[in-house]
Amino acid sequence: MSSESSLSAAPDHAEASRFPTSVYADRLARAAEIARRSGLDGLLVTPGPDLRYLVGSRADSFERLTCLIVPADGNPPSVVLPRLELASLDESAVGDLGLPVHDWVDGVDPYELVSSLLPETPRVAVTDAMPALHLVPLARRFGAIPALATGVLRELRMLKDDAEIDALRRAGAAIDRVHARMGQWLRPGRTEAEVAADITAAILAEGHTEAAFVIVGSGPHGADPHHEVSERVIESGDVVVIDIGGPVEPGYNSDSTRTYVLGDPESRVAEQVAVLQAAQRAAVAAVRPGVTAESVDAAARDVLAAAGLAEVFVHRTGHGIGLSVHEEPYIVAGNETVLEPGMAFSIEPGIYFRGQWGARIEDIVVVTADGCESMNQRPHGLTILPG
Ligand code: ZN
Ligand code: ZN
Ligand code: ZN
Repeated sequence: MSSESSLSAAPDHAEASRFPTSVYADRLARAAEIARRSGLDGLLVTPGPDLRYLVGSRADSFERLTCLIVPADGNPPSVVLPRLELASLDESAVGDLGLPVHDWVDGVDPYELVSSLLPETPRVAVTDAMPALHLVPLARRFGAIPALATGVLRELRMLKDDAEIDALRRAGAAIDRVHARMGQWLRPGRTEAEVAADITAAILAEGHTEAAFVIVGSGPHGADPHHEVSERVIESGDVVVIDIGGPVEPGYNSDSTRTYVLGDPESRVAEQVAVLQAAQRAAVAAVRPGVTAESVDAAARDVLAAAGLAEVFVHRTGHGIGLSVHEEPYIVAGNETVLEPGMAFSIEPGIYFRGQWGARIEDIVVVTADGCESMNQRPHGLTILPG
């Protein structure tokens, strides 16, 4: 993926942690241009998905300030960071791009340093990942609360290029391989936590760098969309919602839900999951350039409403995905964002019967020239495992 020598230390089987340097040069130039058009003096980006997007850095946030400054006037971006964190830039594109690095040592005021690199009373936007620990002293120094850079970066991050789509495809295939093995782990008599531990190991074994989330919602727990795992012992006859994912290099996430049942399902469960499957399919079929995000949400909702299930579909149909598991565009009523080729998001309607059971079916799709491509290929219906 890149010939940079800094990447050669990675094991041969590992994917590169970032794209070629030219990709970041282009992203930085476009971010500066959008910031300029937005009437800003610049962007301030601390560690997180925006920093990874702009310079390929996986640095973490600490109490000591690390911050990329992207001036809107086209001058070179620069990095302010603690001297003891210099090594965190090695794998990033900062060195190859030749960006100035202002390293500071304990005792120096890093906010003053950032301020000195900006016009007086600057109009800046900050990444939404900036901790309040850094935002508040910066705001105090600027004399104003900065804007969020989300609006500036959304049009860049929402539209994935071919290499990003390829990463999402690899992530989707990896999580499909985990779902394909579910019968090895999901059995009556085991706890949700035991099943989740096996799934976590498989998520890593299949090429993710982390198991970002593992939801095993069995029986009544499946009715809680945000349930994670518990010590509940899974029983014969349970309907089980499995929603799993994580990042593959260079940082793009998988996210896929399938619903399983241990033994033959009750006819009512089978019928209602069939309606849910039709709703998921209808939303996927509605995806193409030129339609709004909210129309895709409506496509799923209409199918469930026609079957009397509107009240039990308690969340939006989907969320954008990329370097963050949840990002724009959100597939939700009121979002009039017009879909364009390269946008990536989940289609994940669910039905939830409080205290009883729940079901959800989730694929990641990427908008193409005339429809969409699904990153997930596992069968969508209720998967029957031995009870
Ligand atoms: Zn959620
Ligand atoms: Zn999910
Ligand atoms: Zn999701």
